[in-house]
Amino acid sequence: MSTQSLENLTARLNRLPGIGIKTAQRLAYHILTMSTEEVEGLASALTAAKRNIKYCPVCGNFTEEDICDICSDKKRDGSLVCVVKEARDVSYMERMREYRGVYHVLGGTLSPMDGVGPEDIRISELIDRVKTGGVKEVILATNPDVEGEATAAYIAKQLKPLGVRTTRIAHGIPIGGNLEYVDEITLFKAIENRREV
Ligand SMILES: [Zn+2]
Repeated sequence: MSTQSLENLTARLNRLPGIGIKTAQRLAYHILTMSTEEVEGLASALTAAKRNIKYCPVCGNFTEEDICDICSDKKRDGSLVCVVKEARDVSYMERMREYRGVYHVLGGTLSPMDGVGPEDIRISELIDRVKTGGVKEVILATNPDVEGEATAAYIAKQLKPLGVRTTRIAHGIPIGGNLEYVDEITLFKAIENRREV
């Protein structure tokens, strides 16, 4: 049994990361068994998220406001900037509830193989932020994989002439690891044991 609509739904689900063709088919059939209200709720949640959520112009985090909650929080320490690869990394960092600084989301990491150069990610925005003053320390919290390390090294070199303290998250995060899969305590230790670069 197959129809054009079912094939279209399956194909669209299949385009999502981590959703293979079998899973896409299973999800598509499941959606057909859901109530009309549930399906409409799912569809409107998708469009509302896409329509309402944008990037914070200061840090690059997701926000529904002009400036994100973290950047606009007066209790956060704006002199401490934690640099992460993606907006979702901010929520992984926030899980540990210990970090009181702010963030800078790069929107990717340097990857010559994939044609991603320094101008393709938000490095110049970071440099500008530091140049504007008020930043005392930049913590490089890109993933400890090849691209994350190369990106951290590149940024450290760019920041050097500006005289800002630059540190790299250290122990506890496995090589080739990803912030997503690190528990809060390990992440807290990694921040605590950061080293100068
Ligand atoms: Zn922000």
